[in-house]
Amino acid sequence: MEKYAGKGVYGAVAIGRISLFRKADLSVERVHREDTDSEKKRVEDAKAQAGEQIQELYEKALKEVGEANAQIFEIHMMMLDDEDYNESIEHIIDTQKVNAEYAVAVTADNFAEMFASMEDAYMQARSADVKDISNRIIANLMGKKEQKNQFADKMIICADDLAPSETVSLDKDKVLAFVTAYGSSNSHTAILARNMNIPAVIGVGDGFLSEIADGQNAVVDGFTGEIYVDPDAETLQKYSQKQKEDEERKKLLQNLKGKENVTLDGTKINIYANIGGVENIGAVLANDAGGIGLFRSEFLYLQNSDFPTEEQQFFAYKKVLESMSGKKVIVRTLDIGADKQADYFGLKKEENPALGMRAIRICLTRPDIFKTQLRALYRASAFGELGIMFPMITSVNEVEEILEICEEVRNELTNEGIEFSEHVELGIMIETPAAAIISDRLAPLVDFFSVGTNDLTQYTLACDRQNPDIENFVDTHHEAILRLIEMAVENAHKNGAWIGICGELAADTALTETFLRMGIDELSVSPAFVLKVRDTVRKIRLK
Ligand code: PEP
Ligand code: MG
Repeated sequence: MEKYAGKGVYGAVAIGRISLFRKADLSVERVHREDTDSEKKRVEDAKAQAGEQIQELYEKALKEVGEANAQIFEIHMMMLDDEDYNESIEHIIDTQKVNAEYAVAVTADNFAEMFASMEDAYMQARSADVKDISNRIIANLMGKKEQKNQFADKMIICADDLAPSETVSLDKDKVLAFVTAYGSSNSHTAILARNMNIPAVIGVGDGFLSEIADGQNAVVDGFTGEIYVDPDAETLQKYSQKQKEDEERKKLLQNLKGKENVTLDGTKINIYANIGGVENIGAVLANDAGGIGLFRSEFLYLQNSDFPTEEQQFFAYKKVLESMSGKKVIVRTLDIGADKQADYFGLKKEENPALGMRAIRICLTRPDIFKTQLRALYRASAFGELGIMFPMITSVNEVEEILEICEEVRNELTNEGIEFSEHVELGIMIETPAAAIISDRLAPLVDFFSVGTNDLTQYTLACDRQNPDIENFVDTHHEAILRLIEMAVENAHKNGAWIGICGELAADTALTETFLRMGIDELSVSPAFVLKVRDTVRKIRLK
């Protein structure tokens, strides 16, 4: 038995077998080849194989996600036959006398860069397609099997790190737990694990992956961050017992369903849930959340290989609103950038992505993308109680510009005779110190604030939320953060706005009383934490 330790990010115990999540190594070397004809023939064969694979994917996508989403594979198919692309590969092989892999990789880089530098958003998005199709050809040339991320059984997924897009693409029904060598507890991968109620341990360190193998038995303790590989009988017995007790405790909380979120002396608060997509609605309803306080809409974008259309988004938002039957649903407009990257946005590599082109900055720079999302949201508003909020706000100007764009969208819909609700609440996230400090100026412009403590902590304490090495410097209860929240609460209420917290701190029950005393109106937490926070609220006496 080997013991490892990392940081537990979702408290639950998993017992099962390990599956290593491998990313194919497609690094290409430049090799001299005299026989250029045979290299060109290899490219042809690899392309033919790619054609068959894409056809298969197209048919699967058509069945599972519909024609609009399947179209991406038609585009890939067309690219395989693109004359310029193919001429470039042949030209490099002929003139440089090099291996096929190298010629494809260089062509891919050149074409991807060319697309990324185009003005038109649609053409920019083709950059990711060229990379995708080229990687497929290179993998075929190298004889590497496609990473399908499909496991026969529910497994404990072990990886060096998982990007949010990789996490969302995993088949959730086959994941027992996540264990990663790197990563930090406020990263989106950790948040996703929490949203999916999956035990997760991160930051186990370098050696871990080289010492374990597919199929080994393991125990993952998401409470303490401990992992036991090849556990002995005694350990297995101890953790089966712990798993049972945890499940019983969670069952006890079920008795709180249908009860109010009210303190012993009568103060009430809303407890809502955070979601990443339509698939989390079941957990929201099962845990009796009063609404959805944060729908991270960017996951719709991360699950796609191209910009989701207005229609696709409309159906997703409508479905969430309808499933919540009149309860409030607050959708945050896309918060792409920093650790949440979608290649088709064609964003430049940045030195400091957390301080770079992300979230509202992308939306205000590329209003076509923003307006498509707003149109879909307003159209969906006719089907429930919608609120829209905007991330990464730092200034009054940004909010004024956003409100103008919202008005434009409403006018367009009115002129087109399309129905929407007149009562959509508009709010902003308070997740930069700047927003908290000028909250007196921002509050009169909006209906509500929602405090994003994950980013507020990162920017206030100057601690990169992605960097596990500095976790010891992250004091989530730091006075500076609490003072900024308090300032925002006072300014919201003075100006007739309500205020909630939707960052991970909202679920920290050591602070529930502090938040209630501040006058916070709503706490929005991962669905699995709703009843735990309700339980805490019901035991508090404020007066
Ligand atoms: C936050 O920053 O606290 C937040 C809720 O947004 P995200 O974690 O998605 O950045
Ligand atoms: Mg944030």
